[in-house]
Amino acid sequence: MAEFNTRILIIGSGPAGYTAGIYAARSGLEPILVSGLESGGQITLSENVENFPGFAHAVSGLELMNNMRSQAENLGVKIINDKIVEVDFKHRPFECSSENHDVFYAESIIIATGASAKWLNIPSEKRYRGFGISVCATCDGFFYRGKDVVVIGGGNSAAEEALYLTTFARSVTIIHRRDALRADQHLQNKLLHNPQIHIKYNCTIEEFIGPENPPKIEAIKLKNVRTDKTEIFKTDGVFLAIGHQPNTSIFQNQLELDKNGYIKTKPGSTQTNIEGIFAAGDVKNPEFRQAIIAAGSGAMAAMEAGRWLSK
Ligand code: NDP
Repeated sequence: MAEFNTRILIIGSGPAGYTAGIYAARSGLEPILVSGLESGGQITLSENVENFPGFAHAVSGLELMNNMRSQAENLGVKIINDKIVEVDFKHRPFECSSENHDVFYAESIIIATGASAKWLNIPSEKRYRGFGISVCATCDGFFYRGKDVVVIGGGNSAAEEALYLTTFARSVTIIHRRDALRADQHLQNKLLHNPQIHIKYNCTIEEFIGPENPPKIEAIKLKNVRTDKTEIFKTDGVFLAIGHQPNTSIFQNQLELDKNGYIKTKPGSTQTNIEGIFAAGDVKNPEFRQAIIAAGSGAMAAMEAGRWLSK
């Protein structure tokens, strides 16, 4: 068990966390960043990232995040591969304990723990993650020009992803487990009036089908929940839009969260309801789930934390 004292503790190692680290280190604040067990965050699931400025050619999400980590380390961010499992924000310095039983005392904290896409958790899914199964149409839709794809889910995200995908794909089939979508009516109207979009109701995915080496989706096995009948449905790609879960369970009872569990911040700021605690990236922003937005938000949090510390 070790004890650390720091002016800024950053929790999380996605684009928001590393960028916060880079800015805090350059301000001479000697931040400590606790990376979590899967360093790099959600974007490491993307095989090709073409929309992060600064790269003339696509980079993999993993490479992008490895570069960000090295940049942060080179600038002096102390990165610790561990997971914060308990926090006490009731008094200062704030106290955070880790899975490895280390304790961090911090004058200020930047939370950048992100939000995780929900997965179906069926056995064949892992094999094709990033190879035909995506959780982000904005990130991966471009690679399906002229192809036939499916979107799983019936909420606003599914409807928006389906509409977005029609820019590239030849056809988009929404597959929903019930007999009615929960997406807002105006989005449903847009779906109904788009000839590229088809909807299959009352269907769940039983299996993903395709070559394994290299992995490539060619079809999915669907089950009609009303009749129990199964069918093999050909597709080139699957976009999951079954919701996201903000990684905020350890902050419940400590910070103000919205009804979906995202951290509330002051408008136009990363400041939470507790002075000295800031939140950046997807953990506070369910609307723009993009690496560049998270990175910008991380920079903002570091600047706001720096100003607060120098008061
Ligand atoms: P939602 O929770 O609203 O919808 C998730 C959808 O996925 C539901 O239709 C649900 O089915 C389905 N689903 C969940 N789990 C499974 C599963 N295991 N297998 C198959 N289907 C599953 O999530 P969203 O991401 O769509 O939206 C989150 C929030 O963000 C909502 O409040 C939404 O309104 C908001 N949002 C708003 C937008 C806008 O206003 N433009 C855009 C995007 C999101 P079922 O219906 O049966 O529960």
